[in-house]
Amino acid sequence: MALSVNKSAVTRECGETDKNVASDPWYQAKTILADRLDEHSFKNWIEPTVFESLDDGVLFVRVPSQFFVEWLREHYLDAVTDVLRGIMPEFREIRFFSPKDSDGISPEKQQEEKAHVPQPAGRTVAVRPGVSASKRAEVKRHIAGFNPHYTFERFVVGEGNKFSYAAAMAVKESPGRVYNPLFIYGGTGLGKTHLMQAIGQGILAETPERRVAYISSEEFTNQLIRSIGERTMHRFREKFRRVDVLLIDDVHFISGKEATQEEFFHTFNALFDAHKQIVLSSDRSPKELAGVESRLVSRFEWGLVTDIQPPDLETRIAILQNKAREKQVKIPVEYLRMIALHVNSNIRELEGALTTILGYSLLNQTKITAELVETVLRDLIRCEKIKSVTVDQIQQEVAKRYDVRIADLKGRSRQRQVVLPRQVAMYLCKTLIPSLSLSDIGEHFGGKDHTTVLHGIAKVESAMRKDTLLRDTVDQISRALRG
Ligand code: ADP
Ligand code: MG
Repeated sequence: MALSVNKSAVTRECGETDKNVASDPWYQAKTILADRLDEHSFKNWIEPTVFESLDDGVLFVRVPSQFFVEWLREHYLDAVTDVLRGIMPEFREIRFFSPKDSDGISPEKQQEEKAHVPQPAGRTVAVRPGVSASKRAEVKRHIAGFNPHYTFERFVVGEGNKFSYAAAMAVKESPGRVYNPLFIYGGTGLGKTHLMQAIGQGILAETPERRVAYISSEEFTNQLIRSIGERTMHRFREKFRRVDVLLIDDVHFISGKEATQEEFFHTFNALFDAHKQIVLSSDRSPKELAGVESRLVSRFEWGLVTDIQPPDLETRIAILQNKAREKQVKIPVEYLRMIALHVNSNIRELEGALTTILGYSLLNQTKITAELVETVLRDLIRCEKIKSVTVDQIQQEVAKRYDVRIADLKGRSRQRQVVLPRQVAMYLCKTLIPSLSLSDIGEHFGGKDHTTVLHGIAKVESAMRKDTLLRDTVDQISRALRG
């Protein structure tokens, strides 16, 4: 539903073909922002927005959710304002709103709200005035034991986690009403705890009066055992059954623990019947939870079960870029790519690699160079021969493996039986010889440009995630090369 404004205002959709810039300045602003912002920021935060109307110098832009509104105000208001001032002499301010804003709100109320939340250009605005509420939220956050870094704002969305992210956002927006329980599973270090805590903190930020509890299954078990020993079971029960939102991390831990499962079962039922939100995480899907009673497993599947897959190359780079920005260090994206190429499954390790490199450069007062990055990576992944493999060797090995000619790898044929080996060879060059730039690699493959190389590498990356045969082949070639 669109936010209604002054009748004289121009209202149009951004997707329309007739791009009259005067009536849709946001379209032009977006084009400029696409150049100024990094690709990730643009795609995630600017692209999904839609021009709504222009009214006396005030630009209304529709965004997918309230979360977007806050995020855009906090992170992109300056950049956006700057661009708009440049293209619209009459520009006064920009107002982002989500369709939900206007649902069920009378036009008077909308006007009132608009008047209530002024957004002077270039300044971030508190969405929810009232110090006491935010103070209360902060206190509760501490009580709940949340990591302040684990927020939606700091969560980078990519192919592997977009469904879990969307589900988590939906739960945050309507706890107890959309997916109950929400069950998130995936390998270690992929962001399960981060997402769960983001839900908890997000709910507290919007409604500080809600009772939110986050606990690991291990801690749940420990507290249960203690309360049995101290004969304080009633207090234990009351504590968990009183909450509005219960976030239980790593439920695979309760496998084989009968007493915990029994208690958990009753807690689950009590909360579920009262329409309270339950969120669970695990390192495997409910079906794969051996040693967990079937009545619990089936309950885990009542709501939504969603998984997190390891991040692809671009997402890993975006995560590193965010991390570097948080730490306020400037590091060339080429080096981030190098790290991302080598540390490819666990985000915790990915962050660890960056921290080690930054720490090393700080400690030794040296600049971050390709050599430094290689040295640290070699240590971290215990790969002695990052550097000693040559492009020729890679091409020979790949050609042998796929039974193609080296000339084919360097050639331009688009035949499938040649294209895949060529892309695999490019991928291996970048992985095993990190100091090579994409253009360098292109040179070795008959003078291809860096976008072709990038495309090839990304193709192999994404294919490897689904195709175990390809993963094995690439692995075997790379082991053969390393000796
Ligand atoms: P898990 O609980 O799945 O083992 P965590 O949630 O503890 O993993 O994540 C490990 C680390 O990686 C944390 O520091 C977390 O902030 C970070 N992380 C994971 N996923 C993302 C993401 N998509 N964007 C940014 N940081 C992430
Ligand atoms: Mg975890």
